[in-house]
Amino acid sequence: MSILVYIEKAESKVKKTSLEAVSFASELAQKTGEGDVVALALGSLDSSELEGIGKSGASKVLHVSDSRLDDGVIQAHASAVAQAFEKSGAKTVVLAKSSLGDAVAARLAVKINAGLVSNVIELPEIGAEYLVKRSIFTGKAFAYTSLTTENKILAVKKNAVDLKTDGANAAVESLEVAIPDSDFGSKITATERATGEVLLPEADIVVSGGRGMKGPENWGMLEDLAKTLGAATGCSKPVSDMEWRPHHEHVGQTGVKVAPSLYVAIGISGAIQHLAGVNSSKCILVINKDPEAPFFKAADYGIVGDAFEIVPKLNEALKAEL
Ligand SMILES: Cc1cc2nc3c(=O)[nH]c(=O)nc-3n(C[C@H](O)[C@H](O)[C@H](O)COP(=O)(O)OP(=O)(O)OC[C@H]3O[C@@H](n4cnc5c(N)ncnc54)[C@H](O)[C@@H]3O)c2cc1C
Repeated sequence: MSILVYIEKAESKVKKTSLEAVSFASELAQKTGEGDVVALALGSLDSSELEGIGKSGASKVLHVSDSRLDDGVIQAHASAVAQAFEKSGAKTVVLAKSSLGDAVAARLAVKINAGLVSNVIELPEIGAEYLVKRSIFTGKAFAYTSLTTENKILAVKKNAVDLKTDGANAAVESLEVAIPDSDFGSKITATERATGEVLLPEADIVVSGGRGMKGPENWGMLEDLAKTLGAATGCSKPVSDMEWRPHHEHVGQTGVKVAPSLYVAIGISGAIQHLAGVNSSKCILVINKDPEAPFFKAADYGIVGDAFEIVPKLNEALKAEL
């Protein structure tokens, strides 16, 4: 038996969230005794990327090299995963929660008659029941779902598990699957980035500013810091409402939900509506001149002080280090 992990890619690289899913599956396999972790990669990927999936805990990578699968055509991906699932003899599929992942998982659940839980944040508790903990209401609550089906699909939330990187390269096997033309009914003809900058929803580091920055003319220091860190820039809602920053940078309950490894909040009070968009971040650094600012309660690190003094100094220190 084995656990099958569906791999997503972006710009010819395996997505970090998929490697987290492999790490999750590797821990799950140890817990359940389900044997090896087998990853399934679809479309064009070079051999070093494929073998590298092993470092996160997969012993084997099945590769369907059909270039029609390069774009995330949902029906075709679901067909390919279902066929790989039947061939592998697995009972569990693990994947990263994402818009493509959720769409593929829903179709796959029908094809393989599986119970599906998305936004999983911990390994399941397995006793009398197979109980899966997931994050709901933008991270403000948890739900426990009992899976009773033999086949199971778990979509793992970003940053829910530590990424394993110390494994050995995986063996890569090519896999033939038959995907009907009707599964390629939609086609992505072109993908254009809106900007050349790091995209906020996918960013691994976010530098975000609030009303404490006083005005749009002061954003240069945040952009400089973001550039040093390779980060995307974000902001609080009032900042985008006042048009200091574009609306697509607005983070929070009514804006973009981010889950970076590091979220740097500068001059943001930490209202609950803002926190709803950032509470999946792995590490939060808050810079605020008010020691009572609510954001400090959600922070891993905090600096109490004037952003106008701290941010340029922090940037200079980072530039010297990086
Ligand atoms: C239905 C609803 C939905 C909402 N959705 C969102 C949302 O999605 N996202 C969102 O962000 N908000 C949202 N809000 C608004 C939210 O409630 C807060 O009003 C908003 O987040 C506050 O923005 P802020 O922290 O930038 O500003 P403020 O609350 O004004 O805080 C500014 C902070 O900057 C600090 N500061 C000031 N000067 C400096 C300095 N020189 N150096 C360092 N720190 C300084 C202050 O101490 C303060 O903590 C929503 C509100 C409602 C009612």
